[in-house]
Amino acid sequence: MDEPVNLLESELAEALRLRTLRVEFQPQFDLASGRGCGVEALARWVRSTGEIVAPSVFIRVAERAEMIHALGAWVLHSACATASAWCSRAAQPTTLSVNVSALQIDEFFFSAIERTLEQTGFPAKQLELEITESALIANLALSIEHLKAWKQLGVRIAMDDFGTGHSSLSSLSRLPVDRLKLDRSLVQRMTLDRKGAAVVRLVVSLGAELDMEVIAEGLETEEQLQMLRDFGCPQAQGYLLGRPMTAELVQVALGKTWGNRAMPLRARVGGAVRESQRIDRSAASSKRSTMSAHEAAHATIWHRAPMLNP
Ligand code: C2E
Ligand code: MG
Ligand code: MG
Repeated sequence: MDEPVNLLESELAEALRLRTLRVEFQPQFDLASGRGCGVEALARWVRSTGEIVAPSVFIRVAERAEMIHALGAWVLHSACATASAWCSRAAQPTTLSVNVSALQIDEFFFSAIERTLEQTGFPAKQLELEITESALIANLALSIEHLKAWKQLGVRIAMDDFGTGHSSLSSLSRLPVDRLKLDRSLVQRMTLDRKGAAVVRLVVSLGAELDMEVIAEGLETEEQLQMLRDFGCPQAQGYLLGRPMTAELVQVALGKTWGNRAMPLRARVGGAVRESQRIDRSAASSKRSTMSAHEAAHATIWHRAPMLNP
């Protein structure tokens, strides 16, 4: 049983050394305007045998073998280096989110962020670090201390998989978090019963009250999309809008230039206000979360999903 694990460890170490890991990008969309508003970088590893290893598996291997710092720093650098090329051509600022493991919440990662920003020229305010709710809450005092230091570099913080951990409201109000990522399980449950829907509606309001953006993860169906828009959820990502894809394809999914998608109908009709709101995204998100169901129902969505999926 131990042998395959050791084998995975040594192969992962080799992949890191030879830089054969890859990063894919999943697009994120603003639900009011239909415009791309960001991407999430997701690490990918294909073994020399051709077998794809899921991140949930190799991230655990990296954590156990103490390779997570090297892997995390590589993903951060690689994603920022790739995205800086898009950003320089962008009409609108968009966010690049990078996942950070619980074990990376330390001062070494502070140096990795600082170094990466300097070497790649990626704008700090467009970089977002995603940490799971459970990782943050597990060691709250230390998390707050490190997150505050990271934020001094100008980066944003997102709480990933929100709703799956302890969801401590007092902790949430103390953490310097810019965006809540509503977990896929809550998005799935939302359409099943009244209580599931109430939870999502509450998280959307909570985000607005706490001046945090809210993005729904794992959006897979039109029904979920409609419901999120009815609730005034500002942003979403999921297979319906675009799977994780290569850097080249994600630029196409987001529009020809970074953040500059074809104008949806709603934006043409009454989009001037929303367009100006996009400049100040935190203000925009709280305004959108109070959008009426009627308004949301008429906020036209962009191209259909098959056009966004590679
Ligand atoms: P996550 O950060 O919550 O990322 C979202 C996961 O959900 C991704 O899985 C993505 O491919 C998947 N996903 C997106 N939309 C949908 C959808 O509509 N339906 C379904 N069923 N799934 C969807 P992936 O790429 O397998 O990553 C799994 C987890 O591995 C991530 O969850 C994250 O926690 C971790 N991970 C991935 N890359 C990295 C990394 O570079 N560093 C660290 N520390 N963790 C990473
Ligand atoms: Mg994530
Ligand atoms: Mg997540």
